[in-house]
Amino acid sequence: MSDKQTTENQICEVTSHFEEVSNRINSICHRLNIDEGINAKLRYCKRELTVNFPVKMDDGTVRIFTGYRIEHNTDRGPGKGGIRYHPDVNIDETKALAAWMTLKCAVVNVPFGGAKGAVACNPKKMSMNELERLTRRYASEISVLIGPESDIPAPDVGTDPQIMAWIMDTYSMNKGYSVLGVVTGKPLEIGGSKGRFGATGRGCAICSQLAAKRLGMSLDKATVAVQGFGNVGGTTAQLLSEYGSKVIAVSDSSGGVYNPKGLDTKELLRHKKEAGSVVGFRDSDHITNSELLALECDILVPAALEGTICAPNAPSIKAKMIIEGANGPTTAEADRILSEKGTLVIPDILANAGGVVVSYFEWVQGMQSFFWSEDEVNSRLQEIMDNAFHEVLEVSQREKVSMRDSAYMLAIDRIARAIQIRGIFP
Ligand code: NAD
Repeated sequence: MSDKQTTENQICEVTSHFEEVSNRINSICHRLNIDEGINAKLRYCKRELTVNFPVKMDDGTVRIFTGYRIEHNTDRGPGKGGIRYHPDVNIDETKALAAWMTLKCAVVNVPFGGAKGAVACNPKKMSMNELERLTRRYASEISVLIGPESDIPAPDVGTDPQIMAWIMDTYSMNKGYSVLGVVTGKPLEIGGSKGRFGATGRGCAICSQLAAKRLGMSLDKATVAVQGFGNVGGTTAQLLSEYGSKVIAVSDSSGGVYNPKGLDTKELLRHKKEAGSVVGFRDSDHITNSELLALECDILVPAALEGTICAPNAPSIKAKMIIEGANGPTTAEADRILSEKGTLVIPDILANAGGVVVSYFEWVQGMQSFFWSEDEVNSRLQEIMDNAFHEVLEVSQREKVSMRDSAYMLAIDRIARAIQIRGIFP
């Protein structure tokens, strides 16, 4: 299977994302001498649900939409993972995203397994009423899987707190009482957690600080380029500029903007909200996504979609470090090229784990109906990210492997132990 992603005049040919993650799991299992049965279990998804369901559109017609909910592994706890609304989603991508969630939850050691959901649709071209009907029907279709003890969705590309609110309400109406723990990333008014919205970007910014320290780089002199100026990329850019870094370029699906003297990220967020894109921002030049990736800068943050850094464009990357805000932005081939070049890559399953950490906090707060202050959330997030970063770094130095391989080693060791201790039923 092959996906094509166009990032303005740059085509990335991506083979199956799930095959890539499975191959890496396999090679790390061999390196760790993991039992073959456990290795095989991790290369399959536990549950794969495809749903084709009708939605009444505003013009009175009925359209059939296809969605998925995948649980990759639940040995360390309930499945956890976002829901993506995007025209190009497919089951292979959703399976890969679910597997990355299993690994990510193990890297930061939160008691969750991995899951992911998706609906093939274009939310930008649907009215709020259509989106609400689609969401409530999709939530009903996947309600055989989701629940606070079994599988807990959250926002991802194309979904937001309002969509989580509709899922929580739909699930609760069928139960007959409010179930706070069924989704995370909810609005604060109905049991969301303070600090959840920006948590993934905050985690990326924490990783940037720790990685910069490791390279002896001063963050307040660093230049930054961000691909994908949404929830993750927008917050990362904002926080890094608060730390004193110069954000010289950002992009979204419509194109990018560049100013070597630095962009005003606060104003840029406002512009994006009003204009729908970063394109056309004042005091900036237009830049394509491929030009952005090749910029002379200290930190590159891919925060858009999978496979945007691939074999054709990896050689042109000049950044000293890459903080993977997106899931799976770097193909295996590109990873090898970057490693040979000596680029420090902080992998997705560590760099963007801040979101699932605060989702875990939200789930805990919801179950106890006892809510924390934003300072408490942020300081606990800092502590977990700090510990995870240093654990991954320690394995990387001890085993002389990349931060990606060491993150996989740490995660797979934890998951394999859980499977071993639980045993295979019956
Ligand atoms: P989002 O929808 O808020 O933002 C995505 C941004 O990427 C948008 O600005 C979009 O225009 C841009 N984009 C899309 N295709 C692009 C392309 N080819 N080139 C440049 N820009 C492009 O989504 P998000 O929640 O910020 O998620 C971004 C990435 O981070 C995804 O890979 C997602 O899985 C991952 N992630 C998100 C969270 C979270 O909490 N939201 C947590 C962990 C990982």
